[in-house]
Amino acid sequence: MARFTEPGLTFDDVLLVPAYSDLQPGEADTTTRLSRNITLRIPLISAAMDTVTEARMAVAMARQGGIGILHRNLSIEDQAQQADLVKRSEAGMVTNPVTCSPDDTLAEVERLCATYRISGVPVTDADGVLVGIVTNRDMRFETDHGRRVRDVMTSMPLVTAPVGVSRDDAFDLLRKNKIEKLPLVDAGGRLRGLITVKDFTKSEQYPLATKDADGRLVVGAAVGVGGDADKRASALIEAGVDVIVVDVAHGHSKGLADMVAKIKANSRVDVIGGNIATRAGAQMLIDAGADAVKVGVGPGSICTTRVVAGVGAPQVTAIHEASLAAGPAGVPLIGDGGLQYSGDIVKAIAAGANAVMLGSLLAGCEESPGELIFINGKQFKSYRGMGSLGAVRNRERGGASFSKDRYAQADVGGDDKFIPEGIEGQVPYRGPVAAVAHQLVGGLRQGMWYSGCRTIDDMHVRCELMPITAAGLKESHPHDIQMTVEAPNYHRR
Ligand code: 5GP
Repeated sequence: MARFTEPGLTFDDVLLVPAYSDLQPGEADTTTRLSRNITLRIPLISAAMDTVTEARMAVAMARQGGIGILHRNLSIEDQAQQADLVKRSEAGMVTNPVTCSPDDTLAEVERLCATYRISGVPVTDADGVLVGIVTNRDMRFETDHGRRVRDVMTSMPLVTAPVGVSRDDAFDLLRKNKIEKLPLVDAGGRLRGLITVKDFTKSEQYPLATKDADGRLVVGAAVGVGGDADKRASALIEAGVDVIVVDVAHGHSKGLADMVAKIKANSRVDVIGGNIATRAGAQMLIDAGADAVKVGVGPGSICTTRVVAGVGAPQVTAIHEASLAAGPAGVPLIGDGGLQYSGDIVKAIAAGANAVMLGSLLAGCEESPGELIFINGKQFKSYRGMGSLGAVRNRERGGASFSKDRYAQADVGGDDKFIPEGIEGQVPYRGPVAAVAHQLVGGLRQGMWYSGCRTIDDMHVRCELMPITAAGLKESHPHDIQMTVEAPNYHRR
């Protein structure tokens, strides 16, 4: 006979109880663990969705101190290329710089520069030996784009430095020689890296940026479990991703546990598994070796799983249940989906999450894929579930869907046979990620102040969550007033 559990609670059902505080919001430390080996300065992750995270969003998130997870509704090559773009974006040292050959044409170099948003590239011969550099300065007055690089480049000898040069020495060389790019070469003159002046200015501009050991921005990417998932994971790891998210709608399943264990056995990247919504689901992924566990079955704003399949668990309870397994194991937990306000981040963390994954809150940002849509003078961006018919048809990408298996329907024939678990829509345009993240993290800091918690770990230990009634929720939102001006961190649902 079926059993009944206690009722489940979600964000709107609870509030944190205020507690004695001896700190100011600005003193709260939002540093957290994304996974066993990756630390974030802000606990925000952009969702692996085709209207949320491609390279541009991932770069913006990592610069702010969070991380982006590249979606997988792309061919393997395209997704790996997105990862490559993030890893080569300005950071510390570029370990594997984009190069060209002396025989390339200027048109080819210009294309490279546009793709990677760079201002010039080192020129190497067939053995990888540095023979020159070609930059905007060399190309500016050229009208013949068919000319060869060898005729235009600044040839060796150039100012170079050995591999392993210190940051300070590199900066001195750039400054003294008034150059913007410093190629790093080994004893044989082969190009081994590149340091650019832009990397120094960006470090000052983004002090919280999430970086790897080489100073490059950190990025994650999603894979599934069936079909070409192994190949996809290998290509992404080859492209330099720092973390793989094995991402299916029902993560409490053998296929997911096997995939997590397989990637762990064959690589050194961190692996996040999900989604689950119970203690048993979290425990299974921990036992499979996951470096973090992602929670959320059906809370997403574009998700219809709970009404289509009748399955799910309200998100605050789901996070708390999963934390009963993850906490003792020391495995970080990610609350994925259902967050609409900064206060929901506070509640998710109080319930046991180390970080949160955001879809709708970031889909309206400047850096999300897709164009602005104007409707009645207002600006929007499109946002759709990865289980929506649109994502599965994936018209913009030539009709191939790579996300059907997220819903265990990879073998379903025509689109009309697919059972969607998401919808398509649009969200208001919200400006750049930097401004949105500032409000979200600012709200979190206020929450930490009210609850007297200096750190994310403190929140897990000290916060008390109080279930509220419908009247309590009504009282929580602005009421008994006609709102004339929305705040940057408040919009009516
Ligand atoms: P949001 O932040 O918009 O509330 O939720 C985003 C999350 O919803 C994603 O990270 C992902 O876990 C989940 N999601 C994305 N697309 C779909 C979908 O089509 N169906 C379901 N069930 N979940 C989705």
